Amino acid sequence: MNILETMHEELETLKRKGNFRSLPPLVHDGREVILNERRMLNLSSNDYLGLANEPSLREAFIRTLTPRNFFPSASSSRLLTGNFTACEELEGRLAEMFGTESALIFNSGYHANTGILPAVSDAQTLILADKLVHASLIDGIRLSAAKCIRYRHNDLAQAARLVEQHHDAYRQIILVTESIFSMDGDVNDLRALVRLKQSYPNVLLYVDEAHAFGVRGANGLGCAEEQGCIGQIDFLVGTFGKAAASAGAYIVCRKVVREYLINKMRTLIFTTALPPVNIAWTSWVLGRLPEFSDRREHLSRISSTLKQALAAKGYDSPSESHIIPLIAGASEAAVLKADELQRKGFYVLPVRPPTVPEGTSRLRFSLTADLTEHDIERLIEAID
Ligand SMILES: *Cc1c(COP(=O)(O)O)cnc(C)c1O
Repeated sequence: MNILETMHEELETLKRKGNFRSLPPLVHDGREVILNERRMLNLSSNDYLGLANEPSLREAFIRTLTPRNFFPSASSSRLLTGNFTACEELEGRLAEMFGTESALIFNSGYHANTGILPAVSDAQTLILADKLVHASLIDGIRLSAAKCIRYRHNDLAQAARLVEQHHDAYRQIILVTESIFSMDGDVNDLRALVRLKQSYPNVLLYVDEAHAFGVRGANGLGCAEEQGCIGQIDFLVGTFGKAAASAGAYIVCRKVVREYLINKMRTLIFTTALPPVNIAWTSWVLGRLPEFSDRREHLSRISSTLKQALAAKGYDSPSESHIIPLIAGASEAAVLKADELQRKGFYVLPVRPPTVPEGTSRLRFSLTADLTEHDIERLIEAID
């Protein structure tokens, strides 16, 4: 068989197993999506604060633009001529908001996670990563020279044993984890991880707040703000593509880390910087982030309502956030349930292995602050 025939065969196998992926032809209409002429409430979006869907915010931002300050391209890497003032302004704002020495922005969370770990690791580095970390972190680990051991999800006792066992044999150990996990919606005990890393001089902590930035903490800075440990996390990373209604990502860190990344991080050095207009929009949204606590509180309330209703229907969920799985078990059961809810007007998607462990196929509700109490009541009625 030639290569194209092999590709075709593999795709046929994916189709037979129900694992074939394709891009859904969605039409967006506010809080709703239209797919194959079916109009549904979007319960699968990462627009957690509902800001991407807020016309008044966009209108106010557009009024700040003129043909002279609207730059749709950086035309170059930041190390050449792409370092527009908008980049430095956003980084200054981030460092101030987080109270850190410095900040550095990237083109996406994927760029951040695949670039930082290879830059700061060498063959004398051991990475200890939670079993359920995001694919971008896995890829970053693979691109690095470090050795890696995965510990059981949120099993900090196992992580502590591994640190104790290995800290002597390596120059440094980096603990890699997330704050809110994307499939279970559970929240990490960051303070316990900080205590663990502080017991050893050569242990560093890397936390990805992709799902928590904007959503958690009094000012929306994430779980590290909520748990009072921003300054104790060596690599605190988050993305602008979710609650911040934009694109790009950040690290807040010490100045030496920022300078090191500027010198070593390939996914920063060898790519065109984000469009300055996009960076200006991110700054615009972040400047208003503390004001959105009513949205954060509303999101937390409707999340509790849904979680309690699911528990009453016999679906226990590990969720402690706005990401709420309904564990159906077999893949077929998850697909059928998702189909049924879609027919009833709720855009919910099934998640199956290998994304989640065998036997834990699920629907994944990703709630956003523009959903009303009434929407949630209708959803609860629709679930049996
Ligand atoms: C979404 C996500 C990313 C990727 O961020 P992008 O900005 O979309 O590339 C990284 N890590 C986690 C945990 C995520 O959920």
